[in-house]
Amino acid sequence: MKQAELAPYLSPEARATQLRELANQGKGEIVEIGQSVLGRPLEILRLPGNKPELPPVLCTADIHGLEFIGTQVALGLARNFAEAKDQAGLLREQAELWVMPSANPDAYARTWEQAGRGKLAELRCNAHGVDLNRNFPLPHQAKTSWLPGTGSSKKGKATYRGPKALSEPESSALDTLMSRYQFTASANLHAFMGTIIPARVTDKPSYAHYKDLAKTFAKAQTKTRYRRLALRHFDVFTGELEDHQHHVHNCWAICVEHQSVFASLRQHLRAPSPFWRFNPRQPNRWVENDVPGLVAYFLRALNLPPPDALQAAHPNAKIPS
Ligand SMILES: [Zn+2]
Repeated sequence: MKQAELAPYLSPEARATQLRELANQGKGEIVEIGQSVLGRPLEILRLPGNKPELPPVLCTADIHGLEFIGTQVALGLARNFAEAKDQAGLLREQAELWVMPSANPDAYARTWEQAGRGKLAELRCNAHGVDLNRNFPLPHQAKTSWLPGTGSSKKGKATYRGPKALSEPESSALDTLMSRYQFTASANLHAFMGTIIPARVTDKPSYAHYKDLAKTFAKAQTKTRYRRLALRHFDVFTGELEDHQHHVHNCWAICVEHQSVFASLRQHLRAPSPFWRFNPRQPNRWVENDVPGLVAYFLRALNLPPPDALQAAHPNAKIPS
């Protein structure tokens, strides 16, 4: 079996089974928010908090199909929450948790079927070849950027942004979900380079809160701490989920790139396939390292005013970009 090459990562079926086990364990439910291009269900696990009417927080993973490490961490977060383990028990007192282990199930399945081999674009993008994390509307009528990695208008490229914003069923389903439920905070999980990338903001109070949120995350990590990446000149609007969540859905949002820079680079040099350039050989080490960071981030964000309240209080507090 070629897929054995991807062990200990989960097949699409094993992922679905784990999600159901976690739903039972945490007395939650699996919500289908739509279907992928190829008709796969877009599934989110909703785990209730210890009281009714608690604010929801969201964790998405695998919007880039081959980044299986995010799925492992998301499931680890759901498990800690279901077991009310450590600080996750405290989170359960304050929020309900929504976990989407794969925001791009067609590419997850393709990556699995091809045992992690193939072109980056076909493992990362959805079945239309669109990079879903470049398919969200740009906030504030921002212009698209020419910088590398910020999104391409060419089909076949790994960062192809699609014919128009929200053209894809996967991104559009997430947008609808976020319109229906006011999530207080979101963490969107990616692979490699050990960084925390907050939504791009131009007002000083939000910028300061993101600095604090990233620090809170890193402090709670058990072994390796991630750095915040918020270089204002590089970080232009690119149609990423976090920016849309912050500016349109009024939700604190970060992208987390799992695995440290050093571990990523060491593995990168001798990776037999794109899959092993992105995913660590020992996912559990990073699940254990990063889940406490996620929990601490959510706990902190739950105590912040919503982004729009800050902007209203400080309308002129712009950071020059
Ligand atoms: Zn990614």
